[in-house]
Amino acid sequence: MDVLTYSPSSVSDALAWWHGHPDARPLAGGTDLLVRLKDAPEWPPLLDLTYVAGLRGIRITDGIVTIGALSTYNDIENSAVILEHAPLLSEAAALVGSPQIRNRGTIAGNIANASPAGDLLPPLCALDARVDVISTAGARSVPLEHVMLAPGKTALRPYELISSVSFASSKETDSVFERLGQRQALAISKVSLALVARHAGRAIDFVRIALGAVAPVIIRARKTEELLGGKLLDDALMRAACDLVQQEAAPITDIRSNDQYRRAMCGALLERALRRTVQ
Ligand SMILES: Cc1cc2nc3c(=O)[nH]c(=O)nc-3n(C[C@H](O)[C@H](O)[C@H](O)COP(=O)(O)OP(=O)(O)OC[C@H]3O[C@@H](n4cnc5c(N)ncnc54)[C@H](O)[C@@H]3O)c2cc1C
Repeated sequence: MDVLTYSPSSVSDALAWWHGHPDARPLAGGTDLLVRLKDAPEWPPLLDLTYVAGLRGIRITDGIVTIGALSTYNDIENSAVILEHAPLLSEAAALVGSPQIRNRGTIAGNIANASPAGDLLPPLCALDARVDVISTAGARSVPLEHVMLAPGKTALRPYELISSVSFASSKETDSVFERLGQRQALAISKVSLALVARHAGRAIDFVRIALGAVAPVIIRARKTEELLGGKLLDDALMRAACDLVQQEAAPITDIRSNDQYRRAMCGALLERALRRTVQ
């Protein structure tokens, strides 16, 4: 089967070609798209982003971290900028799939795929990240939380490309990512939790908590965040927070896990995350 593929070197060329081929699908690492197309009788035209200039690189400018759309899990795991300013993202990237997947899969693909189990999404959500998109109508920036509408469905408009992801440095906070899967490698998350906390010892200034794989999209546990914010973490508050976070989850039963286990594990992962950060 011949597949019409175009490999432009600039965003403007990519967008112009896409408008001429409305059925085309952007192709980054291919670890989601090619798996999905593998058995399809007909393939759409592919807009290969590999050589598009300006979609790579991880940098920090004026306290804002920007990650190029084509950054792979390996790039993110090993980036000095990420290790210093958002270590939970490096932690999450290191847990994805296998070395092959981490070498190919990109941050933009993880976002556009909009899986509730996508492992970069809870950390990005807890970092209050924004998704930078570009089209012939211009550029816009959308909070990540508003990009994911349902499993596999995003708020990206027709002919919009993700160009980068950006968020404020979390250097002044402690942050962690926790996930549970069937095993360590090559397992999709059953439950995941990302936490960003600013605190002095056990005195919490604020926390941001994002949950993965326990609702149709990644969710922020805002009631639990409010409960913890401005308080001294003691055993009673820990118990109350771990109970409340379970109520904020809306898990389902599927082939990977059941709703009761997922709900209970939200509490367990929150306790683990708080013990790793707020002490
Ligand atoms: C064996 C295996 C194990 C995996 N394990 C994990 C895991 O542990 N955790 C996890 O989170 N994921 C996992 N995945 C899923 C996958 O690797 C990730 O979602 C990956 O980040 C997708 O990125 P990609 O570059 O490969 O995207 P692609 O497959 O190229 O594209 C995915 C989707 O994003 C769109 N897209 C890509 N780039 C852009 C852009 N710049 N703008 C707009 N749309 C775009 C494509 O059109 C397509 O719809 C696994 C996949 C496989 C095959």
